[in-house]
Amino acid sequence: MTPDRIADALKLDRLGRNLKPFAHADGPPPDRLVPFLAWSTRGAWGMLGLAALFSSLVGTFDVMAAILLGTVIDRALETGVEALWQANSLFLIGVTAFLLLLRPLGFGLSAAMQSIVVQPNVNTMVLTRLHRWTMGQDITFFDNDFAGRIAQKQMQTARAISDIMVETINSVVFGLASLVATTILLISIDWRLSAITLVWLVGYIAFIAWFMPRIRMRSKARAAARAAVTGQVVDTVTNMRTVKLFASAGHEDAAALDSMGRYMDRAREFGTLSTVFRSLLMVLAGTLPVILVGAVLWLWTRGVATPGDIAAAGTVSLRLSQMTGWISFTLMGIYANIGEAEDGIRTLTPAHKLTDPENPGRAPYRGDLVFDDISFAYGRQKGGVEGIQLRIREGEKVGIVGASGAGKSTLVSLLLRLYDVEGGRITLGGQDLRWMKQDDLRARIGMVTQDTAMFNRTARENIVYGRPDATEEEMIAATKRAEAHEFILGLQDHQGNTGYDAYLGERGVKLSGGQRQRIALARAIVKDAPVLVLDEATSALDSEVEASIQSALEQVMEGKTVLAIAHRLSTIARMDRIVVMDAGRIAEEGTHHELLARDGLYARYWQRQSGGFLSLEAAE
Ligand code: ADP
Repeated sequence: MTPDRIADALKLDRLGRNLKPFAHADGPPPDRLVPFLAWSTRGAWGMLGLAALFSSLVGTFDVMAAILLGTVIDRALETGVEALWQANSLFLIGVTAFLLLLRPLGFGLSAAMQSIVVQPNVNTMVLTRLHRWTMGQDITFFDNDFAGRIAQKQMQTARAISDIMVETINSVVFGLASLVATTILLISIDWRLSAITLVWLVGYIAFIAWFMPRIRMRSKARAAARAAVTGQVVDTVTNMRTVKLFASAGHEDAAALDSMGRYMDRAREFGTLSTVFRSLLMVLAGTLPVILVGAVLWLWTRGVATPGDIAAAGTVSLRLSQMTGWISFTLMGIYANIGEAEDGIRTLTPAHKLTDPENPGRAPYRGDLVFDDISFAYGRQKGGVEGIQLRIREGEKVGIVGASGAGKSTLVSLLLRLYDVEGGRITLGGQDLRWMKQDDLRARIGMVTQDTAMFNRTARENIVYGRPDATEEEMIAATKRAEAHEFILGLQDHQGNTGYDAYLGERGVKLSGGQRQRIALARAIVKDAPVLVLDEATSALDSEVEASIQSALEQVMEGKTVLAIAHRLSTIARMDRIVVMDAGRIAEEGTHHELLARDGLYARYWQRQSGGFLSLEAAE
């Protein structure tokens, strides 16, 4: 019998079957700890209560054991050697049953509640809710932070909160129940004993109250420093190619060492405080058995207490003093976790800045795309784009040309509503983008970029990403049109998966720029959105690849409203109209010929073109 089998046989997991760890949270997460705890665990309170009940029950077991021990001694003294077994047989069997059956069973059930039900469910619950909330943040939220740091904060917060719950139930509730039972036991011997315990307890609480906030602060600082290290390391690792290219490993090393050094300092400060705390605690814990046992001995000399009372009081006081050490230790853990949770809450709970409207309108399939006097400067005074007035008629293909930094990508980001415009409005089919659900809007837009990110998933999953319900035939038809079918069949990743099952992305196959673009094209064809954005973000493809996707591109654009950031002659030539941007504004617009005739900015770019590519840098 393996432990798993035993657990299965006892059906322990059924204890938590009513919990729904993936349920949606009620509203946005509060930014203070206690409301946040409530928000993140709503739906599990009944189960938490039950776990607390079990824990408090077993908390009284040790006190019961002490009482039984005292009674055994008193009875033994009363009945003497001869009659000991006969007179007490039933009682002794009862004590044995308590120690061998009831107590282990209670502890086992309580442990099962905590480790099988509460911990996994609460952890998943918090993680699900936090992750959903984070996914709803706008792109600025992610731009302003390190990806690794955000991921780590989610994990850290979920773990901290489930630990807080489990530890509170496991130690604090347990300890309180023991304490109440102890007090009752001591009152039954003599009220003065409980008075002594209570006075001692006040001292203990004062001691804890002084240390805990300090420990919490240092833990918070340590968590922040640790997250900074993660962010630093993740940033370096993600950009490894650049690091190597610029031979800047030394610089990266220094930056990493700096953050690691700071983490070590914070860890040391935390360690110092916790050492002082634990040492003083041991002194405090030692005083309880000394004064309690002393007091019972004194009561015994006065004929008030029995020898059994001495044994019982001695046992509970020793137990209590041991427990205070253990409880303060977990309290310290709880406070450390509170620090970590607060740190995570601060990072992860900001309100969503870019939200869907309460009563969203339908995102139209047809109609013109209009940039109506829009301005956007990334929340700064200037930069970005300003006063853009542009109507792209349904089915029209507009190319955007301009030096780097002219505002081309900003325009695309605004169209995708990755940011909200700061002035003016963008409409599709007469509907303001802000009136639609973001998902609906983005479902209307197909994107083909040159540096298309590939998920570390199969080729198939990457291609149908925009429309996961596409059939296999539709997908293959699309890849054929995008001239991608042939090379995909020849793919093989490290694990030996081939063709459409090969993993692209990070640990998968290596794709060339042209292959990436063809997959991106296939993705756009599958998605079949009415608006198409082409972004030739980086340098151009070689002419062979270009020729092979030319017709594919033509097909993708057919019947669509197209906004293309164009560097390539071949792309520009296909456009109905060209808009030239300069320093965030529209400088010129018209057809290729009109613009050449105008002999302005575009004509200058054109003259400086080389080999079919616009040499924009030269134009700056
Ligand atoms: P292009 O795509 O034409 O190269 P961009 O739209 O990327 O130009 O940039 C336009 C202006 O907006 C530039 O001045 C750039 O510095 C600024 N900008 C671009 N992205 C951001 C950002 N995420 N935060 C702040 N400013 C940005």
